[in-house]
Amino acid sequence: MTTQPLPETTIQQFKTSLRGQLIQPSDEEYESARRVYNGMIDKRPALIARCSNVADVITAINFACDQQLLLAVRGGGHNGGGLGTCDNGLVIDLARLHGIRVDPTARTVRVEGGCTWGDVDHATHAFGLATPSGIVSSTGVGGLTLGGGIGHLTRQCGLTIDNLLEVDIVLADGSFVTANAAQNADLFWAVRGGGGNFGVVTSFLFRLHPIQTVYGGPILWSMAQAADAMRFYRDFIASASADFNGWFAFMKVPPGPPFPEHLHAKTMCGMVCCYTGPLDKAEALFQPLRQFGPPALDFAGPLPYPALQSMFDSLLPAGMQWYWRADFVNELSDQAIALNVKYGAQIPTLLSQMHLYPIDGAAHRLGNGDTAFSYRDAKWAQVIVGVDPDPANNTKITSWSKDYWLALHPYSAGGAYVNFMMEEGQERVQATYRDNYARLAQIKARYDPDNLFRVNQNIKPAVT
Ligand SMILES: Cc1cc2nc3c(=O)[nH]c(=O)nc-3n(C[C@H](O)[C@H](O)[C@H](O)COP(=O)(O)OP(=O)(O)OC[C@H]3O[C@@H](n4cnc5c(N)ncnc54)[C@H](O)[C@@H]3O)c2cc1C
Repeated sequence: MTTQPLPETTIQQFKTSLRGQLIQPSDEEYESARRVYNGMIDKRPALIARCSNVADVITAINFACDQQLLLAVRGGGHNGGGLGTCDNGLVIDLARLHGIRVDPTARTVRVEGGCTWGDVDHATHAFGLATPSGIVSSTGVGGLTLGGGIGHLTRQCGLTIDNLLEVDIVLADGSFVTANAAQNADLFWAVRGGGGNFGVVTSFLFRLHPIQTVYGGPILWSMAQAADAMRFYRDFIASASADFNGWFAFMKVPPGPPFPEHLHAKTMCGMVCCYTGPLDKAEALFQPLRQFGPPALDFAGPLPYPALQSMFDSLLPAGMQWYWRADFVNELSDQAIALNVKYGAQIPTLLSQMHLYPIDGAAHRLGNGDTAFSYRDAKWAQVIVGVDPDPANNTKITSWSKDYWLALHPYSAGGAYVNFMMEEGQERVQATYRDNYARLAQIKARYDPDNLFRVNQNIKPAVT
């Protein structure tokens, strides 16, 4: 890998070979172009290629290889560890690859590699259709999908990767291939959970579901009820039908409308729900949630699916400081609940939160080895997120996340969801892929033997 500055003529040649834009540190746009969603990440790439099409992606990959540059690939730029950028290398920024085509007859959507989930929801909702993603619409389709994809529709429709039918991908040698169940099936297996390790995905094909209006939103209780609420949640979700999804959270109530003033800035616990069954059955389904408590805040009701998907967007603009830790969880024992309540009550800043996402229901229809995502048998993905706009609070949010995680880790399933991890080293990556790691390493050796795609939760190529 080179760290020497490239000759200007080499850069100019690269620039003229792109339809998109090449940004260098001397350019006015460089400061904004180098930023990713997490304001804590402060990396300075040598070059940023805003690719306009697949040809640009091929050119950029070949350039990185020829010049021996470190290569980072940016989809939506949301990665907590800042894996969509790098120091001194080349960033392939896919944001301009944002074409979407819905096929309402086949119930599929083809999505280019730089789209956000808000782009996808907007396009599919017009047809009364949706595919599962996450819970914030500015998140990139690329990173979220390649890591697995956990969100409001996990119990109903499975992980995002369970609805992925095909990818177009540019490999480390610059070749372009399609991978699906019949073609390059090993690669298709690997990209469903293996992250950006295998190439740059220029388009995704997803299955769509007839989901338009859902019944959902947050229902919150006071922290005095937190232990009971968590136990109630554990039991409720275990027996809930698969058309109901609900994740548990500790959070502070935002200090402004539409939230009642007496709750402003209060730490609360609760569930964020999404029910996709017949609307006339919703009230009965939600009755036990409303009887337990009763809730201090109840915003659950019928709403368009994209409204639920973007409900938290305005609270979480790009550029804030983020530090998160995560684990999969099999069991919520009473001891684990007591520790969760202890640290949940200590949320250090207004936007810091803990989320516990169910990954059962439809996500359990596949086995651990059916895709690269190896924790199908876990019941939850937990994430402890320290967030604040002010870098002066970095120690505060980081210490809280780490302390909370350290206390709960012994009660976890061992590994974590790759999309909720920071850069935590090889041991953690292996703990996350478990029995799938060896197969992933073989596939990596086949498609990326020199580990060109290594700015990610890295799978090392197997030595053959
Ligand atoms: C506010 C917020 C909410 C979130 N909510 C959820 C959630 O509900 N559910 C969930 O599952 N996750 C969630 N996440 C985590 C999210 O899935 C990861 O941060 C993910 O990495 C983001 O993808 P991205 O494309 O935006 O990120 P980037 O930083 O652009 O990329 C992340 C990684 O993916 C690779 N990558 C991205 N696009 C491509 C591509 N087209 N081809 C090849 N490699 C690519 C990058 O190289 C990098 O290694 C959330 C994150 C944030 C910040």
